[in-house]
This record gives sequence, C-alpha cells and structure tokens, in this order.
Amino acid sequence: MAKYNDSKCRLCRREGVKLMIKGDRCHTPKCAFERRPYAPGQHGHNTRKKLSDYALQLREKQKVRRIYGVLEQQFRNYFTKADRAKGITGHNLLISLERRLDNVIYRLGFASSRQQARQLVRHGLFTMNGRKVTIPSLLIKAGDVLEVPEKHRKVAVLADAPQVIARRGLPGWLEVDGTAFRGVVKSLPQREDIQTPINEDLIVELYSK
Ligand code: SF4
Repeated sequence: MAKYNDSKCRLCRREGVKLMIKGDRCHTPKCAFERRPYAPGQHGHNTRKKLSDYALQLREKQKVRRIYGVLEQQFRNYFTKADRAKGITGHNLLISLERRLDNVIYRLGFASSRQQARQLVRHGLFTMNGRKVTIPSLLIKAGDVLEVPEKHRKVAVLADAPQVIARRGLPGWLEVDGTAFRGVVKSLPQREDIQTPINEDLIVELYSK
C-alpha cells in the first residue's frame, strides 16, 4: 500500500496548505493533503483556531520558508531587502522568492519540485543567457533566457517539461519551449501571479515587532 504519512506531507498538513515539496505526487490525487487537509488526531481540524497572533505569524513565515526551501537567515535577508525596497514590503518579499532561479526552473517544468530544481541547478544543468549557472538563489531578470545545453538533454526529468507544464500550467510571466529545452522570463512576476494562499502581511507583522 502507498505510504501517505510521509514527513514532508505532514508539514503540509501542519501548515494547512500544499507546500508542493514532494514533486509529481503533489499534482496528483495521491497527494496526502488532498486526502486529509488537516493534522492527525482528534484536534487536527481545530489546530489553527487555537493559535495566538504571534503563532499565526510564525506559522505563516515557516510556511513560506518551506514552500521556497529557504533557510531562516536567508529568509530574514530577503525580508530586509524587501523592506528597504520601494513598494509593498510583503509583495517585494514574495516576488524576490519567486524570482529565485530554482523556483523559475521548477515553474518552467524542468523539475518536479523546487528541491529537485536546486539540485539540478547545483549540478550545472542550465545556462542563463548562454553562461552556465550553479547558484539556485540567483534572482532572474526580465529577458533572461534559461537553457539546457545539448549534453544534458537526455536527463529524463528535463525532457518531461512539456508534459509537466500541460499538467501544472505555466505562469504568464514565463515562456517555455520544452522541445528546445528553453525558457524565457518575459517579465518579472507580480504578486497576483503567486497563486499559493499566502498572507504575507502576517510575516511583515512578525518581523516588524
Ligand atoms: Fe505531500 Fe501533497 Fe504536500 Fe506534496 S502537496 S508534499 S504530496 S501533502
């Protein structure tokens, strides 16, 4: 029988949202959260109701950190930059995370999860504007072109991009040609492009104390 109570899936139930950290399974009915979107036990349904404001803020921050696979200090750095930049701090924060190279590779369908995208980037399987890139946290810009060089195109997960995108969809700010192993950043993502249910105001409140 399939194993559903995996520790990663438990995190989704804890945070009350699909964190999409298990790859293809997250996009299928086998997703544990689809089967039971709350923590186990008698009080699993009501966990969120009992949380204090501080706990809610903390949970929201942890949730976003887990979605993007970012360490605590790194996350704090994103926040500091977002706070100093023009515009709405919470939006700036999410847009920076969305602009990470590993996230973009995931969004383009070249990886089944952000974690896998990080590994692929670290192994040097992509070029950006014709140059090899190996830093998952690199922030993409509008007009950047990401490609898989010829010699890496036999890697199965990369070749699956067209089917992955057909299943998952592609954000409007990206363009992909799976058969050419090429993705283009048409424009920078905007807050409304991030469909995951996130309340970034809670994170801003947490860090503004
Ligand atoms: Fe598991 Fe579903 Fe969460 Fe993916 S989205 S990690 S399959 S519970």
